[in-house]
Amino acid sequence: MTPAPVTNVVIVGGGTAGWMAAAALAHVMGKLPGFSVTLVESEAIGTVGVGEATIPQIIGYNRMLGIDEMEFMRETRATYKLGIEFVDWLRPGHSYVHPFGSYGLDMLGIDFQHFWIRGSAIGDETPVDAYSIAAMAGKAGKFDWPRPNTKSPMAKLAYAFQFDAARYARFLRARAEADGVTRVEGRVVEVEQNGESGVVTGIKLDSGQTIEGELFIDCSGFRSLLLGQALEVPFKDWSDWLPCDSAVAVPCTLGGKHEPLTRSTARPAGWQWRIPLQHRLGNGHVFSSQHMSREDATDLLLANLDGQPLADPNQLSFTAGHRARAWEKNVVALGLAAGFLEPLESTSIHLVQSGIARLLSLFPDTSFGATEIARFNEETDREYADIRDFLVLHYNASERDDSEFWRYCRNLELPEGLREKLEMFRSSGRIFRENNELFTEASWLAVMSGQGVHPERYHPVAGLLDEAETLERLRHIREVIAHTVEQLPTQDAFLQQRGGAV
Ligand code: FAD
Repeated sequence: MTPAPVTNVVIVGGGTAGWMAAAALAHVMGKLPGFSVTLVESEAIGTVGVGEATIPQIIGYNRMLGIDEMEFMRETRATYKLGIEFVDWLRPGHSYVHPFGSYGLDMLGIDFQHFWIRGSAIGDETPVDAYSIAAMAGKAGKFDWPRPNTKSPMAKLAYAFQFDAARYARFLRARAEADGVTRVEGRVVEVEQNGESGVVTGIKLDSGQTIEGELFIDCSGFRSLLLGQALEVPFKDWSDWLPCDSAVAVPCTLGGKHEPLTRSTARPAGWQWRIPLQHRLGNGHVFSSQHMSREDATDLLLANLDGQPLADPNQLSFTAGHRARAWEKNVVALGLAAGFLEPLESTSIHLVQSGIARLLSLFPDTSFGATEIARFNEETDREYADIRDFLVLHYNASERDDSEFWRYCRNLELPEGLREKLEMFRSSGRIFRENNELFTEASWLAVMSGQGVHPERYHPVAGLLDEAETLERLRHIREVIAHTVEQLPTQDAFLQQRGGAV
């Protein structure tokens, strides 16, 4: 007999992860007869209260839910994000952009970076930013939607959002509740398990109520109530590679320029983020507590704000890494309950989203097949490892040696995959994207070149053009991009015109 599909889902936690999961499950699975989603959250406990910058994949999530982009921009006070500007990461005084989308224009069927590498070998030292429409538009404070399948450089633009995370959770909650999700206010005080199998059967609240379910989604944040605490799935600790373990966050009034870019500025024991929203700036200082005290980290943050603080600093602690298995028995963890890699490349909300997508495609029946669970865990592990490698690159490939922290990072023993990628790029300028990994060739190019990794050679096809023609073509691409950027509206004008401004 075919096992019955799971129809009773309980989500523990109503932060970004919980409400993203609730909205998606209700929208996609809600058509199954008898399907129900219950979400339990505790206002007294609250949410982590940070998490404002995203990557382009979020557009896919919003579209899946049929969200109108301008309504979303208004409701969440969102701005556009065309990439991340890294300031002082290579050395003080230097900056580069990790833009979304890709570089250059199509040339002779090989990756653009080979022409750029050849250009620098023959004397054109223009940084690669000049060949990215997203980087140049971002720096100019401009924005427009991409124009796919055209010859315009705008075909190479991709974008994401910066938003108020609390507002996003509320926005999704309204949609989820409209789609039938039941919200229960209360604190989970006990996780009930089957004595023999250990399968979770229900959660008990402080009110005495027990909520039973077939599938439990643990979105309880760093507490990891079900996966970590009840099922005791161990945590893979990656803090040797990513030593930042603390953060202090504070919003402030809008000040300075607010381009459609997240800014990350390197500091002596970590880095500071600056995220411009429509109504305020989000700021935070991520640091290693081994290398700086909380007081000093907070003072440094407050001394480097572009506006007036709007709240008391929010202190956070974490360990880089993830649970060894994100899915165990009938519990799937999403968000901080599953793991956390620091927010340097704004990947956490994406990890929630990809976990949801994976869960939807491997959605279990009541027999909870081992193959599906193994597949889910394998893909999740790979995704965390890929992101870890990309993050480690930023710290390791730096020339900074002005503090103990940076000396530690420069001398790290690299994960094998990252070491291979770096060797390949250094020796031949080639970049390979393996297993459909999250970060594209363009992302690796941006950060490797931005962090001063210089290739020794380039693809032979890039040597077919003579020197003058190579230089001329590079100049032409820069001009086309610069000209296109000039024609774009400012982000503010775009939001006003399209109805996305508050
Ligand atoms: P939380 O927001 O902590 O939510 C946990 C939920 O569980 C809450 O509703 C809480 O009430 C509930 N809960 C806990 N215990 C109980 C209980 N006993 N009973 C009932 N309910 C309970 N991500 C990005 O993508 N971009 C960023 O720029 C970014 N910046 C970040 C900066 C920092 C310093 C940190 C720490 C994280 C950042 N993140 C970022 C990550 C992002 O904040 C999270 O991935 C995202 O908010 C999801 O959090 P969550 O929902 O898993 O957890």
